[in-house]
Order: sequence, then C-alpha cells, then structure tokens
Amino acid sequence: MSIMSRRTVLTAAGAAVTIPVAGSGARAAAPAAGRQSPGVYRYKVGSFEVTALTDGLARRPLDAGFVKNAPLEDVRKALEDAFIPTETLPITFTALVVNTGSRLVLIDAGTGGRLAPTAGQLYENLAAAGVDPKAVDTVLISHFHPDHIGGIRLKDGTLAFPNAEVVVPEAEWDFWMDEGAMSRAPAGLVNAFKIVRAVFDPMAKDVRRYKGDTEPAPGIYAIPAYGHTPGHMAFRIASEKEQLLVWSDVTNHPALFVRNPGWHAIFDMDPEMAEETRRRMLDMAATDKLLVSGYHFPFPAVGHIAQRSVREFAFVPEQWNPAL
Ligand SMILES: [Zn+2]
Repeated sequence: MSIMSRRTVLTAAGAAVTIPVAGSGARAAAPAAGRQSPGVYRYKVGSFEVTALTDGLARRPLDAGFVKNAPLEDVRKALEDAFIPTETLPITFTALVVNTGSRLVLIDAGTGGRLAPTAGQLYENLAAAGVDPKAVDTVLISHFHPDHIGGIRLKDGTLAFPNAEVVVPEAEWDFWMDEGAMSRAPAGLVNAFKIVRAVFDPMAKDVRRYKGDTEPAPGIYAIPAYGHTPGHMAFRIASEKEQLLVWSDVTNHPALFVRNPGWHAIFDMDPEMAEETRRRMLDMAATDKLLVSGYHFPFPAVGHIAQRSVREFAFVPEQWNPAL
C-alpha cells in the first residue's frame, strides 16, 4: 500500500501539468449525471432486514423563530460547527421498511411530495430497493405531521400502499381527528389538520390504532415519546438479541438538537414535554449504546448517540456496511 505524502501529491500535480494532451476531444469527459443516485441503505437487526429510504429533503430558511429558546447566532454557530449552511437548514426525511420475515412494515410514509419539490422520492427509492408498494403489509405511523403521513396517498389521492393496513397511535388519532382541536388550532397548524383529514377521512374505519407500550407490529414495540405531538411514538425493533431504536422526531437535525437537547424546535407542540422526552431518550440511547435511526438524521439516518460529558451528546453516524 503506498501512502501519498504531501510532497508526492505536489510532485504528481506538477507532473500532470507537463503531460501533453493528446488530440483534443479524444478523452472527452462523460456527461455529468445531474441527479442524485438512489437513496437506499440496508442493514440487519437480528434476523430482520431494515431498508432505509430517503424521501428527499426540504430546506427551511433559518429565522429567529426556528429554535424558540436560543439566540439565532447560537443556532447558526451550531450549524457552522457541523459544516452545514447557516442560512437554510436541510431537513431530510428517512422512512424505514422492516422485513420481519413474516411482514413487510413501512415505518412512516414520507411527504407524498406535498412539502417541497425536493421531497417525495420515497416511491422511486422503493422501486430502486426492489420493494413493491403492493407488497407492504403494514404502514406504521409515529405521529400525524404531514412529513410522516403525507406519503400514505399519492398526489392524486389514491393509496400508495393499497394492500397495507395503516396503524396509528391512538392518542394522535384522538387529537388530530377531534373537531374541537381543529377549530382551536393556531393558523400554523391548520394545514397539518387538513392533510390529516385528507389522508384519513376516506379510510377512517380501516385504520387500526395502537397504544404506547404495545407491539403494533410483530417485533416492533411502541415507546411513548410525547411532546413533539400529543401522541408521538418512538419504536424499539428487537430480533435475536439485537435492537434498533427508531427515534422518530425525538430530535430534528442532530447537529442542533442532539448537541443541544434543551433547544426547542418550532415543530415541538409541547416544548417542555418534548425536552423531557429528548433527555430521557438520549440518556437511554447513550447508556445502552443503542443503534438509533432518526427520521430527520442525515441519510442513511442510523448511528449511535455518544455522551461526551454530563450534559453533552453527539450523533455518530454508522459506517457504511457493504455486506449484510
Ligand atoms: Zn418530522
């Protein structure tokens, strides 16, 4: 194995300049692809096969209201420290398909292309992964925000996973389907209520509701993680002594909210309760060294939570594994 020192790099670069170019056009560059390759990553949890699929991203301009209890300059500094542009935050969406051996379970359904032109890629990535939407048995939902339920229906309103049972947190259903809650909703939440109704009204009688601390799908256990929304759920996937903690929206981007668990993102509907949940889950993930998948973690959205000091945490991405 040769190690390229700074000196050999410089020498090589110098040498390259002196090589004559043979016949202009003879070595034409291949055209640039101009688009991203499929966003699919596969890993095992015991005997279960997990496929992470990106639905793309939405860019959110950063303003003082995004983190409600921190100065904007501190938020920008945290992004700068993570080498992320400081004017807009890229918010990615990663859904999971879990093949338990007996069921094909989709955890959260993406945006359905309703939030941004750069999102809604779940369906083409399912195709790239070789997963037929008709083969999905269960669509398991963590909470009712549009980026998690929008993809249950295609843009034309038809069901994207026509043979799947849709399984949702009971407390989410009770809140979002309540006429009173909708009539009292602040302006910023009205659209979210409308999307909930558009997705669920035509299929209300067929939706199965689950409670916390139950097993809504085989080998997948619901962990109450309230605060982000009234009935927000995380999941523990367990197979053959291995586990994956599915974080859902316990934090949004880890560079901001794993690093600063006390920061309140605008999306957290009960910020104090969300912070309490976040601290509890960070502590659990770090102490038990759990593999964690977060819906808004950078793709493929899986890794560990490291505790750096008493109050400091960091997300450490999993290394690409070429073999299953
Ligand atoms: Zn979300």
